[in-house]
Amino acid sequence: MTRSDHPDPALVRGWCPGARRPMESGDGFLVRLRLSGGVMSATLAGDVADLARRLGSGLIDLTQRANLQIRGVAAGDVDELIGELDALGVIDPDAASEAVRNIVASPLAGLDASAPIDGRALTHALEAALVADPALHALPPKFGFVVDDGGRCGLGDVAADVRLTGLATPEGPRVLISIADRPGHARPIAVVAVGEAAPSAVALARAVVRLRADLAETPRRMPELIARVGLDALLAAAGFGAAMAEVATLPRPGGANAVLGDHTAGPVGFLGLGAPYGRLTADRLALIGDLAGERGSGELRLTPWRAVLIPGIAPEKMGRIRPWLTAAQFITSADDPRLAVVTCAGSSGCRNGGRDTRADAERLAGLARRLAPGGTTLHLSGCEKGCARPGPTPITLTARGDRYDLIRDGRAWDAPWLAGLTLDEAASALADLAPF
Ligand code: SF4
Repeated sequence: MTRSDHPDPALVRGWCPGARRPMESGDGFLVRLRLSGGVMSATLAGDVADLARRLGSGLIDLTQRANLQIRGVAAGDVDELIGELDALGVIDPDAASEAVRNIVASPLAGLDASAPIDGRALTHALEAALVADPALHALPPKFGFVVDDGGRCGLGDVAADVRLTGLATPEGPRVLISIADRPGHARPIAVVAVGEAAPSAVALARAVVRLRADLAETPRRMPELIARVGLDALLAAAGFGAAMAEVATLPRPGGANAVLGDHTAGPVGFLGLGAPYGRLTADRLALIGDLAGERGSGELRLTPWRAVLIPGIAPEKMGRIRPWLTAAQFITSADDPRLAVVTCAGSSGCRNGGRDTRADAERLAGLARRLAPGGTTLHLSGCEKGCARPGPTPITLTARGDRYDLIRDGRAWDAPWLAGLTLDEAASALADLAPF
């Protein structure tokens, strides 16, 4: 593989890397693994860690779609890495198949007795249907699905164009079909039997492909399409009736706060470990793979919250495990200030980065946490593209050259409130904005 085989992804809107479509970045190529349902065996974790050390830089990202990215692969090693992953049986036969399987599933799917449906089975059915229909490979690159089993880990904060949510009804388990009619909002359109859920999602996807084909400027996401053609036209094209009224569901905990730390004594026993700023090392991945294999149920569950769950660890084993996790610097508490910061690769991993945002995140995390007691308060962006967070954040620091622009309640590309700050000046501004 040569560099000319791939366009510069930083310059291509909507570019989505995969294992079959590696993306060149500032530290070499990155190869993304889209593991079905975010399920990774302990053995595979060890194998991927070895490959990341041998053929990459040893750095591994955990993405907001619960995928893993092996970073820092030299152009001359990409083909060998893909061959090794192929031999492990964890990548699709072609780029189109891996791209269309853009599904985030409930991290505890199949293990959670409180879930009304088996999210793993539904995920597998949807994946198979998406891959089998070549027409669906024309879906836009970031068009995505969520399969939420309705159980312990709510996925309400995870972006999706089509959302399938398990429901417990007096008539038995059902699936609520929702679509994103505007950013951040899921509009319910039907409740169907479990066996009808994947075909319903596929019908919507086919309608999206057909309707896009008739438009001169093709929308990339569901809200844009609905804004262009109208909700009724979409539903008619997909064979649905009129949209239904809002469905009242009980709020469920979700996000990193709901899964981090020791949940081994709960009904679905697991340990939740956050990857600081979404980054693992090969050694850390190998460590948690060993823990899962020797003390857990033999698998890891990747989450869209940049955390990994290890199911099946007995509570009495935690005393011996905890020191290892602390030494490896995993996030094990929702109070950890590193959770207040979201950052992209920055100059250490992207040629567009003006500053090493990951190093700066370590410096600023404590101040970021002081801005608010919970949630993300600070977005560090290596340039105005804002890859790590397309939505607004209370404070965004966008690198311009070696300095930062500070944006309040906006995105990385919005007009700054303060411009041209050194890191010390940015830290001082954050301290002034913190309420104590
Ligand atoms: S936002 Fe970060 S990762 Fe995205 S192009 Fe800019 S420097 Fe690179």
